[in-house]
Amino acid sequence: MQIIQTENLKPYNTFGLEATSKGLIHILRENDLFEVLLQGLSPLKILGGGSNILITKNIDAYILRNEIKGIEVIEEDENELLVQCGAGEQWHQFVMWSLSNGLAGLENLSLIPGSVGAAPMQNIGAYGVEQKSAFHSLKAIHLETGVRRIFYNEECRFGYRESIFKNEVKDQYFITHVNYILKKKNFTLQLSYGAITDILSQKGILHPTVNDVSEAVMDIRRSKLPDPKLIGNAGSFFKNPVITMSLYNVLIAKYPDMPSYPIDAESIKIPAGWLIEKSGMKGYTNGQIGVHKLQALVLVNYGGGNGSDIYQLALDLQQKVKEMFDISITPEVNLW
Ligand code: FAD
Ligand code: NAP
Repeated sequence: MQIIQTENLKPYNTFGLEATSKGLIHILRENDLFEVLLQGLSPLKILGGGSNILITKNIDAYILRNEIKGIEVIEEDENELLVQCGAGEQWHQFVMWSLSNGLAGLENLSLIPGSVGAAPMQNIGAYGVEQKSAFHSLKAIHLETGVRRIFYNEECRFGYRESIFKNEVKDQYFITHVNYILKKKNFTLQLSYGAITDILSQKGILHPTVNDVSEAVMDIRRSKLPDPKLIGNAGSFFKNPVITMSLYNVLIAKYPDMPSYPIDAESIKIPAGWLIEKSGMKGYTNGQIGVHKLQALVLVNYGGGNGSDIYQLALDLQQKVKEMFDISITPEVNLW
């Protein structure tokens, strides 16, 4: 185990923000982590692909970069398969592994950046599917005691971009492996997001396969989302707010074009990107940072920007949306 004190964190976060830390430690196996704990290094922060963090200052902690690899089939029957994935594998590579083995369950989650270990953190989701629908369990190590623990699906309290790891046990556990149940047959494809069916019909595909759905999702994503290799960003900066029907009724009378997606009889989801766009901030730039011109939910660093300015921009957007719609939007991105 090596502690690299001089390493700039810029290559390790998709916003491309510069920062130092007390030291960067590559965790390739569980024993590297136990060595860190034995040495009593603290405080500790866990890093995967850095695609869901906003670094606003130099980090006064040791950064544990999760690089635990390996994909292993644990159990299998004629219908499904239980697979264990090292938390340091790239999520998209894991999805591609599942497709190349003819397995269903993760296809709508193609091309999401980041590591497998971070997927349960915010219960990643896209195009009508969340990772919790295939999630079986995960293995984690408690950072203070070194005790191993297994968390099963129900215990993770998965919600909309939420889990126990973002709340009750935040920063307490290092996730080392995640187990998923993937289907060999008897599965239903999730095509309810309009854009997927549009792309499939444009391609003349009447009976889509799992691979067709994955390719449709990748086509849509490539056409809309800025590639972090070219423009620094962390995907959607805010969660989509869920509001009451009474507020919705007031707003829809004023903004008849407002998109919405019912959650239940009393609540309804409004796309945060639409709220920001309507507030006039889509495409806004301030020096090296701004709001993306195609997707207002994505804040960007064009290069050389700093995290505290992006944070200030996020606060300004929250205030504008609150003033205009009386809706509070909350960050999905983790503030470091
Ligand atoms: P990091 O940014 O490294 O870490 C995120 C948080 O998880 C941090 O608090 C960190 O401490 C913690 N963490 C990371 N690894 C571990 C671990 N092993 N154990 C314990 N804690 C850990 N998200 C979606 O949900 N859906 C999308 O469609 C989506 N699209 C995106 C598109 C783009 C272009 C970008 C840049 C981001 C997108 N995201 C999306 C957000 C992001 O990719 C996901 O949240 C992803 O799971 C983050 O993984 P990561 O490894 O980069 O996490
Ligand atoms: P979009 O298709 O333009 O739709 C805008 C928003 O409306 C989405 O955020 C989505 O909410 C909601 N929506 C659209 N169709 C819906 C339906 N049929 N049922 C329920 N809700 C619907 O969104 P986009 O920005 O291009 O993103 C597409 C998908 O990828 C979304 O699921 C989005 O969450 C995901 N994504 C996430 C990130 C991230 O960083 N978290 C980044 C890029 C894309 P939901 O977000 O609740 O699905």
